[in-house]
Amino acid sequence: MAGRPARPLPRACEDARLLASLELDGEIDELGAKQLRRHLASCPDCASWVAEMRSVTSLLRATPFEPVPTDMAPRVPPRVGPPKAGAPCSWSANGGCRERTERVLPRVAP
Ligand SMILES: [Zn+2]
Repeated sequence: MAGRPARPLPRACEDARLLASLELDGEIDELGAKQLRRHLASCPDCASWVAEMRSVTSLLRATPFEPVPTDMAPRVPPRVGPPKAGAPCSWSANGGCRERTERVLPRVAP
């Protein structure tokens, strides 16, 4: 995080944050949940971190997806098909033979 000095976390804190991540994903078991609760009760740094992660996760999960603008859709290289017999080939400046190139772009939700 910005503004915080970079220092390694104690092992117990690393373990607790891993357990918190599992909890957020619904993958924590009973023993892990107990260990996490115990650590958070005695470590204000991790308690604060976990509270922030829970808040961010819940906000992200409640936020609807936005459609990707078409100009931001991932560019897929053209798929070059077999040359057409006798077809003229005019190579363009941006590469590819228009007559032999089929652009395949992913469909983007409106
Ligand atoms: Zn801790």
